[in-house]
Amino acid sequence: MGSQGVRENPREHVTRAVVTGGAGFVGSRLCEVLLDSGAEVVCLDSLLTGRTENLAAVRTHERFRFEQCDIAEGLSSRGVRAAVRPGVDLVLHLASPASPVDYLEHPLETLDAGSRGTRAALDLAQDQGARFVLASTSEVYGDPQVHPQDEGYWGNVSSVGPRSVYDESKRFGEALTAGYRRALGTDTGIVRIFNTYGPRMRERDGRVVPTFIRQALAGEPLTVAGDGSQTRSLCYVDDLVAALLAFARSGHPGSMNLGNPHELSVRRIADDVLAATGSASRIEHVERPTDDPGMRCPDIGLARAELGWEPQVSWQDGLARTVEWFRSRSRDAA
Ligand code: UDP
Repeated sequence: MGSQGVRENPREHVTRAVVTGGAGFVGSRLCEVLLDSGAEVVCLDSLLTGRTENLAAVRTHERFRFEQCDIAEGLSSRGVRAAVRPGVDLVLHLASPASPVDYLEHPLETLDAGSRGTRAALDLAQDQGARFVLASTSEVYGDPQVHPQDEGYWGNVSSVGPRSVYDESKRFGEALTAGYRRALGTDTGIVRIFNTYGPRMRERDGRVVPTFIRQALAGEPLTVAGDGSQTRSLCYVDDLVAALLAFARSGHPGSMNLGNPHELSVRRIADDVLAATGSASRIEHVERPTDDPGMRCPDIGLARAELGWEPQVSWQDGLARTVEWFRSRSRDAA
């Protein structure tokens, strides 16, 4: 039995998946891997922060369908109803601005994505008898007082600070998901995704890795917030996508941390980006954002035990692949 009283229902084969936020950095990679596994994939994305160019490799695939749609507005438009036919067995809810710069710029859309959007996606899963997976976040732990963070930790979160629009919307999404499981028996699962990086991050989405790479390649100073001693633990996107799919198939209810426990200070990330790019950029210290967590590192013992999953891509390899992707984009743009 699952920890919330609903029988775990492993689904080895996914036939038809709906991915909300499927045009994003993680979602688009997820769509590709699902297609490779033989599934039909319906990608829903408002394109607020997602980009259709992320779907270039799959757009014409016969088992792929994209509909521009804000999940928070529900799924009643004709195009979405036509795309989301009966037989969906997996709903992956990733739709939300996810970078601090994005959610501070779109606070109300972020709250809607976690609340009304999660509810619409849960209703879809419930109606279709599908498994539902909520992409939650390490931000549910806020500025943690426990290190590393395991799933039993309840967090240290401001309900009114600038980051609260993201943190609390994801926390509400978790509560809603747990509520559907308890009240309606929906086959739900929650994963808490820690910092992830890789190709397809937007150059200006504000997150630390794409920002430093863009700055290094342009010969601009790398903007290290504060003294750079705050830490993050960075997972390469392909490792995360593998974990997400293993979790979806497992039937596990979560909440489960997914991330790479290899912890780095922001200053070290800057130095490694300088080395990987061969850039002569200097470091410029800028003000730390309000509520910026001082440290973050996942305890992934549960994922190891339940999914047999372990990150495979080292920081050095993942960073090299990401730098190469940013370089090839600037070559294409030239
Ligand atoms: N950061 C930084 N310079 C930047 C962007 C981010 O020093 O140009 C820092 C940020 O203050 C935080 C860490 O890098 O301490 C990770 O920030 P990011 O926005 O990537 O993700 P978060 O984990 O805060 O959601």
